[in-house]
Formats: sequence, C-alpha cells, structure tokens
Amino acid sequence: MGWMHSTDDTSHEMWIRPEFVDGVGTSASTMREGVTMVGLGGDSWRPAGEVVGWRVVCDCEHETQTISPTRSQWVSTDLWVRVPSPSLEDVAAGRIFAGDDATSDLEFREDVADAAKAIWRSQHIRLVDVDEEIALALAAHRAAAVAIDVAITRGRRAGRTWEQIGRVAGMSAPGANSRWKERIESPAVTDFVDDLDAMISDLDGRVLTAAERVGLSSIYQLAARTNDGHRPSIADVLTMAARLRPATSE
Ligand SMILES: [Zn+2]
Repeated sequence: MGWMHSTDDTSHEMWIRPEFVDGVGTSASTMREGVTMVGLGGDSWRPAGEVVGWRVVCDCEHETQTISPTRSQWVSTDLWVRVPSPSLEDVAAGRIFAGDDATSDLEFREDVADAAKAIWRSQHIRLVDVDEEIALALAAHRAAAVAIDVAITRGRRAGRTWEQIGRVAGMSAPGANSRWKERIESPAVTDFVDDLDAMISDLDGRVLTAAERVGLSSIYQLAARTNDGHRPSIADVLTMAARLRPATSE
C-alpha cells in the first residue's frame, strides 16, 4: 500500500494517516463485531467512527555509506477535516466526508488519493533533493572555473600567446599571464587536461566541438565527485550526463 518515490539513494512512501482528537492512527484496519476499527499500533484498535481527520504522511528512507539507512517521517501541516455529510464535502478545501465504515479506506477513493499525491509532491517530494541540488550547483560552479583553466591550457598547448588569449578573454597580455600562467602550470591542472584528452581519444576519436569539450570538462569533474574523487570511467561520465539532463516525464 502507499505510493512510492525513489531517487538514487532515498525512497519515500506516502500514505494517508487517520487522526483522532487525541492521537493518531496507522494505515491498518480491521472489523470487530461489525465495527470498523483503526489500528493504533501494536494490538490497539479504535472505532473508525472516532476519526476526526487525516493527514498526508511520508516515510522517508535515506541510504548512507555507513551501516544502516536513516529514516525520517514527513507529515503534512494541514489536517483534512472529516465532515458529517456528503454535501459538505470539498476535497480541494480539505473537507472530506466518510461514513464510519469508510474512514479507514480513504486512500481507495481516487479523488482523495490524487489530492494527497498533489500535496505530497508540492510540499515534500519537490523539495527533498534540495540539499543535493545545492551541493551539485556548487560543484558545477567550481567545475566551471576549472573548465576555464583547461581551455587556457589547451590554448597554450596549441601555441596561443598570452596576447591572443588575453584578446579572447578581454584583457591585456600581462593580465592574462598573471591570472592563468601559474594556475595552468600546476600538476593538478596539467594532469587533469591529460586525463580529459585521454578520455576524448577513447571516444572513438570523435572530434568534439568547443562547447562539448567545456561540457565534458565539467561533467567529468562532477562524475569524479560522485566517484569519491577517483578518475571516472566513460560510463561514469555518461551516467552523470544523463543525470544532468532534464527529466521529460516523472
Ligand atoms: Zn519522504
């Protein structure tokens, strides 16, 4: 039961939680002597007729590098209030009618399930990866700075003078020299350009456009980041490229 949303290392399961005036129920229900009962956990049950409303709940599980996954729970802020008559019902406004025997089966109602999914997506799922988004954007920012060093290195190796490079960059020859000379002579940059060029040769000798080389440089660095800083394979790079492509559907 419930609805799932999974990313690389997290999984989310949504369900609709019945609530009482003084406590919350679970998704379990049963019949006892003709009365529908809502589970409270363990062996405790309570008549479904005492349910006063519902909230959308998500059980979130985050895989970690260490031993066990971390679990947390998200609960929607607004309570869906149970109303006593179908004529008072307004699902969009959070007013739901349910008979005493139907209070526990709410998620089988398609309109209610759709409303719950909409709340879950807009208030929770859409935001769950925001930490990853920040980290990835910062990494992309740093990768873009390194891509400049790579391009300047290639320019120097292709015989460009500092005056020619300065002209492209909109600065004087001494300005370009003092900004990049020392940077591009560091082993970190020269080794990286060698790695990249080796990968470009491995791409079946394809001639990459300037834009593709800049993209490859950034994506390579992001792939290395998810590879614990180790040199990524072509497969790793292609996987990262696919991740950065906007999703066409959910
Ligand atoms: Zn979740």
